[in-house]
Formats: sequence, C-alpha cells, structure tokens
Amino acid sequence: AKSAGGNRFELADPEADARAITRHGLTTALPAALERGEFFIEYQPLVHLGDGSVHGAEALVRWLHPQHGVLGPDRFIPLAEHTGLIVPLGRWVLEQSVRQAGRWHERHADSGPLRINVNLSPCQLTHPGLVQDTVEILERTGVAPEALCLEVTESALIGADDDLLKPLRRLAEMGVDIALDDFGTGYSNLANLRRLPVSILKLDRSFTQSMQQFPADPVDLKIVEGIVSLAHSLDLAVTVEGVETGAQAEQLRILGCDTAQGWYYARPGPPERLHELALVDATR
Ligand code: C2E
Ligand code: CA
Ligand code: CA
Ligand code: CA
Repeated sequence: AKSAGGNRFELADPEADARAITRHGLTTALPAALERGEFFIEYQPLVHLGDGSVHGAEALVRWLHPQHGVLGPDRFIPLAEHTGLIVPLGRWVLEQSVRQAGRWHERHADSGPLRINVNLSPCQLTHPGLVQDTVEILERTGVAPEALCLEVTESALIGADDDLLKPLRRLAEMGVDIALDDFGTGYSNLANLRRLPVSILKLDRSFTQSMQQFPADPVDLKIVEGIVSLAHSLDLAVTVEGVETGAQAEQLRILGCDTAQGWYYARPGPPERLHELALVDATR
C-alpha cells in the first residue's frame, strides 16, 4: 500500500487494502518463488473427438505458495505479466513441458508422439528471445517441433502488425503449431485469419457451455457450425475446451470439431496421469 502517512481513504476500506497487500505480496514474492522452484505444471489431456484417443496435453502452471497453498494461474500470471517475470517464468514452463513431452515420447514411441500445448503470454511474443529460446529447448530435449503447439490468445493478435507476427511465422515455418486460444471472444475479423500463421483454432469455453442445454441454442449451433466450416476451409483444426458432459462432446463432434479438452475427459493433473491415459489408449 501507500506510505505510512495515515491515509484515511485506505483505512476506510480495509478489505481493498488487504487485497492490495496480497497482490503486492504475491508480486514481490514471484522472483524468489521461481528460484526456489515453487511453480509446478499440471497437464490436461486433449483427445480426438472421433474416438476419444489421447492427442496430447496442455501445460497449465500452478504456484505452490508456502503460505497460501496452491494458487491458480489467474492469481499470478497477470502479476507476472505486469512485472516482466512472465518471460523467465514462461521460458521455464516451456522447457519443463517440452522435457515432459520428451519423456512421454520415450515411453510411447510406437503410439505416435503425444503433443504438448504451451500458453504464451503477449509479453513473451514481443520478447526478442522467443524464437531462439524455443529452438534451443527443442534441441536440448530432442523433441520434434511438430510435437509442440504454442497457444496465443485471439486478443493478443488482434491488429497485430508484421513485427509481432514475424517470430510466430518463424516458429510455424519450423513446424511448430500455433493455436489461437479463446477463439470467438475477441471480435477478430474472420478474414484476418488467413494473415495469421495459425493452424489451430481453440474455440472458447463459452461455446461449449451453450451446448449444455438440449436442444442447444440454434443460433449458437449455427455460429459453431460456421466457424468450423470456415476453419476447415482454411486448413485449420478446431479444438474445443471446457467439455464437461458427454452431451456436449457428442454435439461438438457432430458439428465437426476435431479435438477436445475438459473435465469430462480429465482434469489437469500430474504428468504420470498422461502415461496411464495413453497406455489405456494403446491397448484398446
Ligand atoms: P486457458 O489457456 O484458456 O486454459 C484453460 C482453462 O480452463 C484452465 O484453467 C483449465 O484448468 C480450465 N478447464 C479445463 N477444462 C475445463 C472444464 O471442463 N470446465 C471448466 N470450467 N474449466 C476447465 P487454469 O488452469 O486455471 O488456467 C487459466 C488460464 O491461465 C489459462 O486459460 C491460461 O490463459 C493461463 N495460463 C495457464 N498456464 C499458463 C502458462 O504457463 N503461461 C501463460 N502465459 N498463461 C497460462
Ligand atoms: Ca490455453
Ligand atoms: Ca482457452
Ligand atoms: Ca492410440
């Protein structure tokens, strides 16, 4: 909070002050937390909607805070973005997840490589080391670029100029997939999609939620149908997130979506869980 001068406005709202202190406390604790290894990654499977087989996993970072317990990314990613710590933190997440994908590949050499999806914050996009860091991590771990997918939110790319797109283009040329995350929330010009080096659309959870009622809202059905057909005509694959029920999965499969992610299949969990799921897959 502010200097100790007895600011009455501050005292008038002790709750806001407590929140500010927590934010401030979390922000200042971030760098040491990275050094002490308090972050860890959970993996949530991505499955093919056609047959339910495991396609890969999304890496989702968590913070095991010594006082507050496990904190979700929504609590600290914005703070890390604000202070710039997101760059080393994001690099750490990328390296850990790609390394983990390498271990899955060793264990499941015959069933095709499990893909790994990693979230990129807009700050990482503008950081000059992105391409080189990614290349080095792939080389160090021996993981093929084709097994990596970087997820960028639609809003981060709205109105993006060529300078911002250049690193993504480089990565795409190497074979890394770029996914447009939270698609459908950012009001982007659909025609603009052609200009972006993306190969996957990740349909926002709000669409999945609207498939909950039966019959689903006819307008929502039309919208998803339209997005899927446009995406496929541009050679983009469509992933849906937030699938919580079998009815949603079935509806989205009928609408032509390719892959899915959500609690219906599995919650985010430790990397060993992916082994188990992929092994079940391999034996059926
Ligand atoms: P996101 O990329 O859209 O990730 C999907 C979020 O939906 C995750 O929340 C996931 O746990 C949650 N989810 C998955 N299936 C379901 C479901 O069936 N129902 C519901 N209600 N939720 C589901 P999480 O793990 O709390 O992550 C929140 C956001 O934090 C992510 O949203 C992403 O934007 C960000 N994030 C997570 N890890 C990283 C990271 O390493 N780097 C960056 N820059 N951002 C990250
Ligand atoms: Ca994501
Ligand atoms: Ca998303
Ligand atoms: Ca399989």
